[in-house]
Amino acid sequence: MACNNPSKKTGPKRDLIGKVFGRLTVLKLRGRNQHGQYTWVCRCGCGRFSSVVGAALSGGHIQSCGCLNREKNAILVLNVALVTAAQTQRFWSNVARGRPDDCWPWIGWLKGDGYGGFRIAGKAFRAHRIAYFLNRPFADQNMHVLHKCDNPRCCNCRHLFLGTQRDNVHDAMAKGRLRSKAKGRPGEANHNAKLTTKQVIEIRRLWRSHTALRLTQKQLGRRFGVGRAAITHIVAHRNWAHVRSL
Ligand SMILES: [Zn+2]
Ligand SMILES: [Zn+2]
Repeated sequence: MACNNPSKKTGPKRDLIGKVFGRLTVLKLRGRNQHGQYTWVCRCGCGRFSSVVGAALSGGHIQSCGCLNREKNAILVLNVALVTAAQTQRFWSNVARGRPDDCWPWIGWLKGDGYGGFRIAGKAFRAHRIAYFLNRPFADQNMHVLHKCDNPRCCNCRHLFLGTQRDNVHDAMAKGRLRSKAKGRPGEANHNAKLTTKQVIEIRRLWRSHTALRLTQKQLGRRFGVGRAAITHIVAHRNWAHVRSL
């Protein structure tokens, strides 16, 4: 009966060709993806092409080829040499510094994204970024500053490390999927875990021969439905460290 719906056979319910969603202009219907959703070829205002699921367009979820987000995430460069002693002092007065290995939460102004914020020369930086670069003025500012501790407000440099935007996303995914929120319930017992012990053993087994198998961590991740960073953490025994069978 559902099969009688003519739109199922002839195409999508709405013709989106020529319509504009944010920066995207729909050029043509591409076809269906593996989930049966219609995807459309769009030209982005920046000149790139991308194919996007119709529902994501009409729902307003996707408005560019990705360039909008890239611009939003554009990295602000802090010229450490121009930060005055007074600014540095004001900065650290907003950090609840504890023992060397504790989290040092930012207690000052918060940016809309939940991270601590601090303005220097009219630019609103993320506080943990400033904490990092004040301590390591020669570190590469094209990198993102990430947390080891899952605490976005933490400004303890011992809990911070450099990574790319990709690492940023994959790290969040890996933590969300694989790290137990309730401490002491690692791995499978944690309902957030997406993998089983058996799969973890299999991942490590495959990774040991990845050169022969011509396998990348990204491909492995795709095979098991997790991000690349999740695989990195597993093969380095940072996640699922309790699984030691191999
Ligand atoms: Zn674009
Ligand atoms: Zn911390």
